[in-house]
Parts: sequence; C-alpha cells; structure tokens
Amino acid sequence: MAERLEFSVSETERKFARENPWFSFVIETAQGLNGEKYQRRRGSQIIYQEFGEGFKCVECDSDIKGGLVAHKVLGLPFLIGNEKEYYIGIMPYCPECEDEPDFYGSSIQFH
Ligand SMILES: [Zn+2]
Repeated sequence: MAERLEFSVSETERKFARENPWFSFVIETAQGLNGEKYQRRRGSQIIYQEFGEGFKCVECDSDIKGGLVAHKVLGLPFLIGNEKEYYIGIMPYCPECEDEPDFYGSSIQFH
C-alpha cells in the first residue's frame, strides 16, 4: 500500500476499553485518500478494508471472519434476569494471516 494510513481509536471505543479492561481487543480505524475505510486490531499489523457488507484483508484478500470469544463473568453473587454467566464477544481476524481467536477469553471480575 503506497499511502500511509493514520489509525486512531474512536472516543467510544476508548471509553469502552477503559471501562472493560478484560475485553480482548480494541479496534482502530483509518480512512484512505479516496474515503476507503480500514480497521485493525490495536497492536496488529494486519489491516482490514471495508468491502461491501464486510471486510477483506489488505495482505491476502481473504474475507475477514469473526471469532467468538467467551468471557466468564465472575464475582456476581447470583445471576438475575438477563444477566449471563458468559459475555460473548466477536473478534475479527484474517483466517490466513492471523490465528483464530482463543474461544476462552479472560474472565470478567465484578467486585
Ligand atoms: Zn490476510
């Protein structure tokens, strides 16, 4: 890629990451010179380009997949209503360039 992309984390994403430090990843976004939209996971060199309904890997052109990551919720005295024992997140990844996310994510501790 000739152009240099400037990735940044949106304020919403930043706030979410601060309040939920157990969450597996933070998404950074960038915009190309012609308005193309890019994303990557913070800390990763693999860039996804928005393409129709989904994303494609800039490296290898694969369709970006979503891997499920389950975070066990710990420390709640009991579960009420719609509270769940697991919080399921979806982590984007390139099936060629990146490892499939580990299904068992870090647990969420409530105090
Ligand atoms: Zn790839």
